[in-house]
Amino acid sequence: MADKVANMKIAVDAARALVLRVGWLMDQGREAMAEAAVAKAFVSEASVRVHLDALQVHGGYGYMSEFEIERDLRDALGGTLYSGTTEIQRRIIARSLGL
Ligand SMILES: Cc1cc2nc3c(=O)[nH]c(=O)nc-3n(C[C@H](O)[C@H](O)[C@H](O)COP(=O)(O)OP(=O)(O)OC[C@H]3O[C@@H](n4cnc5c(N)ncnc54)[C@H](O)[C@@H]3O)c2cc1C
Repeated sequence: MADKVANMKIAVDAARALVLRVGWLMDQGREAMAEAAVAKAFVSEASVRVHLDALQVHGGYGYMSEFEIERDLRDALGGTLYSGTTEIQRRIIARSLGL
């Protein structure tokens, strides 16, 4: 279980760094479309992984609606859809790489 929590920490730290990179680029008045797509894809998918691990760590209680983790997981899944799906973020990233 400690490994799962460590993985959560890695995912959250990496997600935060990617979001801060976009903010920093925009503060500099620079183009950040590809970096924003990278951040959106990574953050939303990392959020799903983190919430799945949180549910697993809590065992059966994690699955029960009384403990809110299942609702947080559903909210995390929405993140891969709204403000551009992760498939579309990958199209933007691929285009920025000339593909
Ligand atoms: C919780 C939530 C909140 C939302 N809030 C808003 C909001 O505030 N404002 C708003 O305007 N919209 C909102 N949406 C709508 C959201 O933007 C759309 O659901 C999303 O853009 C996907 O569009 P779609 O549902 O029409 O799916 P479709 O466009 O039909 O796509 C279906 C699937 O095909 C994939 N796909 C589509 N085209 C391609 C392609 N060219 N290449 C590869 N894969 C592709 C998609 O990634 C998706 O997995 C929200 C959605 C959710 C779930």
